[in-house]
Amino acid sequence: MTDPRLLPRTIAVLGCGGLGVPAAWTLALDGRYPLVLIDDDCVELSNLHRQVLYATAEVGQPKAPALARALLEVAPQLQVEVRQGRLGPANAAALLQGCDAVLEGTDDAVSKFAVNDWAVGAPAGVQRVASIAAAIGRRGQWMVVRSAGPCYRCLFEEPPQPESLATCQIAGVLGPAVGQVGALAARSLLRVLAGEADSADGALVRLQARGLLRTPVAAAAACRCQARGDGAADSEPWGQHV
Ligand SMILES: [Zn+2]
Repeated sequence: MTDPRLLPRTIAVLGCGGLGVPAAWTLALDGRYPLVLIDDDCVELSNLHRQVLYATAEVGQPKAPALARALLEVAPQLQVEVRQGRLGPANAAALLQGCDAVLEGTDDAVSKFAVNDWAVGAPAGVQRVASIAAAIGRRGQWMVVRSAGPCYRCLFEEPPQPESLATCQIAGVLGPAVGQVGALAARSLLRVLAGEADSADGALVRLQARGLLRTPVAAAAACRCQARGDGAADSEPWGQHV
């Protein structure tokens, strides 16, 4: 059987909006990993202040291919694929086929939990990693989840009801704040993939008015991330990219 750690790693960028654009830009300029851009939305005029790789002429066009074109302008060697879709529990495996790392940057809590479950539900011996980011108003947060946990569900257990959440349309979102969170979430993912220490690895890092606040997440004994049984192997560093 092929050692999964010897396969080239592919990073899916889920959501090509305020978080996904700066995250994809960071990953593309790093240049080590092929990218898969996943989104089901089109560029809107109100997006342009924070989704800075889109042009006015692209309003109304699908975001993922527009972002791929913009990334190839700055990183012509980039391997980039586009997939249209909105991720949920039912289609996570299909939409993330061939990917072993995810930058989750949608505004959809269901997607964040589905990505979390994809990471911790990896088959025995397979390592997956996800950097799950969110931003609203002037605040944002991200956490890197590995297959062995701790995970998003150790912290939040279940997705909140949609009606209980503020949205960017209602609460607004500050362009520089969401841009910073997207880029930092991507940098955390790159560090973990390279086997380097990162403050968001197993911890929630929050961007607040006074700076960054790190909260380590303890693995919950009853959580699904602890049910896999081979956590010892997964807790090894990812090692150098091959
Ligand atoms: Zn967990």
